[in-house]
Amino acid sequence: MNDMTINTAISYDLPPVFTGRHLIDGAWVESAESFERRAPSHDTVVSRSALGGEAETEAAIAAARRAFDAGIWSRISGKARAEVLLKVADLIEANVDEIAVQETLESGKPISQARGEVGGAADLWRYAASLARASHGDSHNTLGEDMLGMVLKEPIGVVSIITPWNFPFWILSQKLPFALAAGCTVVVKPSEMTPSSTVMMGELLIQAGLPAGVCNIVLGYGQPVGSLMSTHPEVDMVTFTGSTAVGKMITEASSGTLKKVALELGGKNPQVICPDADLESAADAVTFGIYFNVGQCCNSSSRIIVHEDIAEAFVARVVALSKQVRFGDPLDPTTQVGAIVTAEHNAKIDGYVRDARNAGAKIALGGGPLQVEGLGPQFYQPTVVTGVTPDMAIAREEVFGPVLTVLTYRTFEEAIALTNDSDYGLSAGIWSENIHTCLEFARRAEAGTVWTNTWMDGYPELAFGGVKQSGQGREIGHYGFEEFLEVKSVVMRVGRSRAPWVTTHA
Ligand code: NAD
Repeated sequence: MNDMTINTAISYDLPPVFTGRHLIDGAWVESAESFERRAPSHDTVVSRSALGGEAETEAAIAAARRAFDAGIWSRISGKARAEVLLKVADLIEANVDEIAVQETLESGKPISQARGEVGGAADLWRYAASLARASHGDSHNTLGEDMLGMVLKEPIGVVSIITPWNFPFWILSQKLPFALAAGCTVVVKPSEMTPSSTVMMGELLIQAGLPAGVCNIVLGYGQPVGSLMSTHPEVDMVTFTGSTAVGKMITEASSGTLKKVALELGGKNPQVICPDADLESAADAVTFGIYFNVGQCCNSSSRIIVHEDIAEAFVARVVALSKQVRFGDPLDPTTQVGAIVTAEHNAKIDGYVRDARNAGAKIALGGGPLQVEGLGPQFYQPTVVTGVTPDMAIAREEVFGPVLTVLTYRTFEEAIALTNDSDYGLSAGIWSENIHTCLEFARRAEAGTVWTNTWMDGYPELAFGGVKQSGQGREIGHYGFEEFLEVKSVVMRVGRSRAPWVTTHA
């Protein structure tokens, strides 16, 4: 008998199969071949997309290059760019439901989370619009009486944007409005598993009046589309979110043209639970941190590091909360944990759990796939694994599923050592009522983001990104915007004071 809270299939009229086409130079373009996406939850075809190849990618890059060089976007005022971005934000809000349903069907994430992701993205567009107007360089008026210096900020050029399947609309909105605010033109490739919400974004961009060629979309796979977007000499920058393995490939592939590369990659993010913490809030945040987006989240808090005096009681509380988490049909608005993106990924998650069990770990909850009544087979039970040692793969690698790994510590130094004992460094958190403990942790944790007494709160104003093998560069915030800008120094002589270098002989 399973003691989870299961939401069985609800009755729902699925939308017609979505047709996705490329957006190249302002026109919707078909390909000779297409590819299909089946809903992981309902095991039925939900989108059919044009399959891009080299020809479509070349055409999209050429269109972005022409648009950039023509100055129709790169040289207009920040105010004019901001007006378009603000219209996109309004259009996103007017279309949340349609986009969210398609995203839920393609990814398996709960509809309430898809609505939050899509609706919340409008704020990223509004914030980027504010940066388009506020952007400025520097002036140097202290170089001597006859000199004046300026540092200009200029758009970097043509940007390739390559996105993953876990937050297709949000991650696109972490990149695209910031690149556009800077004056760049772009080519976007969404994941082959979740292409439709990017196509829907293309519709909104046209409605908002973005000039043709400024944003181009090519649908298809890493090979050849993503690969060409990373190597092409007419592309000035690649911004990629996805796995660390593909991030490394992109770095290598792009080196031939020395284009700028920004990478948002994987994580194995710890939360340290101190004995003096508000344990009720911490247990709730741990539950949220591991099951949000079905654990398929770069910021998933997939390992907790709990003080050994409180470990047993704390894990019992997390297990009790996990049983109350509503798990099942992602189209049910009350569902909190939905389906796993593919059957292969479901098997991979299970492999980590089996290996940990074989190596001596204990399964405190869940521990296997589950068939939800009336739905497809791609579900994995909320799972808590205890008795884990730091050397086990489940404690070191990104499982990317609803699987929590529990480690314990005795001293604060040990907690810090365990936190930093990882190839990744995306985010880390601590729960303590002692501000000194929190601040020391914030300084010593090797991570791009540190949360104290909270988890996964983010704001467009705050930069996001990772250290170590979690990535390079930053997204969103003022720092993320600056990534899309080049810096040019202008040195000016005032008057005719320069002494000649060549002395003329009479
Ligand atoms: P993935 O690396 O498999 O694919 C990401 C994108 O890269 C897809 O569009 C894919 O088609 C494309 N791609 C594949 N091979 C390519 C190649 N050789 N050249 C260029 N592009 C190529 O990642 P995924 O499975 O879609 O996403 C899950 C991963 O993304 C996880 O590791 C997760 O941690 C990471 N992620 C990181 C962040 C972050 O901000 N740090 C956010 C979300 C997801």
